[in-house]
Amino acid sequence: MNRSAQAFDLHHIWHPYSSLSKPVPPLHVRSAKGVRLTLEDDTELIDGMASWWSAIHGYNHPVLNEAAKGQIDQMSHVMFGGLTHTPAIDLCRQLVALTPAPLTKVFLSDSGSVAVDVAMKMALQYWYSQGVKSKTQFVCLRGGYHGDTLGSMSVCDPDTGMHHLFNGMLASQHFVEKPACQFGEEASDDDMADLQRVLSINHNSIAALILEPIVQGAGGMYFYSADYLSRARKLCDEYNVLLIVDEIATGFARSGEFFACHHAAICPDIMCIGKAMTGGYLSLAATLTTDKVASGICEGEAGVFMHGPTFMANPLACSIANASISLLAQSDWRSNIERLSSRLQSNLLPANDHTKVANARVLGAIGVVETKNPVDMHKVQKLLPDLGVWLRPFGKLIYTMPPYIITDTDLDTVCDAIKTVAEECS
Ligand SMILES: *Cc1c(COP(=O)(O)O)cnc(C)c1O
Repeated sequence: MNRSAQAFDLHHIWHPYSSLSKPVPPLHVRSAKGVRLTLEDDTELIDGMASWWSAIHGYNHPVLNEAAKGQIDQMSHVMFGGLTHTPAIDLCRQLVALTPAPLTKVFLSDSGSVAVDVAMKMALQYWYSQGVKSKTQFVCLRGGYHGDTLGSMSVCDPDTGMHHLFNGMLASQHFVEKPACQFGEEASDDDMADLQRVLSINHNSIAALILEPIVQGAGGMYFYSADYLSRARKLCDEYNVLLIVDEIATGFARSGEFFACHHAAICPDIMCIGKAMTGGYLSLAATLTTDKVASGICEGEAGVFMHGPTFMANPLACSIANASISLLAQSDWRSNIERLSSRLQSNLLPANDHTKVANARVLGAIGVVETKNPVDMHKVQKLLPDLGVWLRPFGKLIYTMPPYIITDTDLDTVCDAIKTVAEECS
């Protein structure tokens, strides 16, 4: 990287979860195409991160580029208050068709965290409208991650989310043990006991249970039992509590089903999606809900749902999302994810025998190697250009969720890099 540009970046620009006093120098990307990032010094890296779950079709995709260019010549943006447009209508039609049938109402927003805040506000406004004014809290799973705004942070794991730093500003919520039963296992009564206990004591003050279905992402890259999810749905019904599923990371086939709640064949009352929705091109998210919740809100005292972002339903983002979702839905995504999954398994599961590895696991197109000691990020950042791979481990977790178009050979290279990082940087 050009020295003065690098110096400016280090001293003036925040990166996600970064320090401006002891920054880890970022790599300077010039362009990206397919699964490759090209750095300023011409180094090419195979992307193992899909830009945080989002670039599922790879970078610089001709179909998505075409959608963006076509829309930009029509209009990039127009306000959504009092106006509507075809890109939003087409997108919402697709979302209603692809999500579980009872989810028929769509609220578009700018980012995942906002979609979660919107979901929480829907649940709160729903109960308020029903005249149930005591239901103002949420129950959440430990190990969960739902975003970085103050609302969504309050339902993240209190320890990894550093709740103590924001004491007084974060709403206080109920936390239950994360499911001990892993993906593929049944959930026993013991596994459900903590959720059942918290609901039975506090259901009068709980508006909704919020969880990431099957895959806990940024809170620990953990895969849990589909049976837990279906029993949690039943408990919500039993205790008159809404269920919010946060599919922001898992949506659009990442876990092997189009949406992760399909693993348990359940339907939530509210669903959040984001990340991969525009194929990694622009920030866009959605919160879907049922006729029941929507009419509950709209027939209540406020008469309207109280949210409306400036850039709601941005036409450029909606057009690209339409193109990305069509591309995926019309492809044989299920066998492709199976291809990626078995390749990840054969490469990564043997790492379970490695002395520095605590656990290696794979679900869908997600591969995780959890080390016994934390990964040294300064070392990782220096090593990656030599390995020709882009990864972004956190804590003890080295993982990949590659673009779906990655070839077997490139995926092997990504997996080799994961094992080298575990060996040399943890
Ligand atoms: C990334 C993520 C979010 C937050 O989305 P942003 O677009 O970063 O605000 C929320 N929930 C889950 C499960 C996520 O993975």
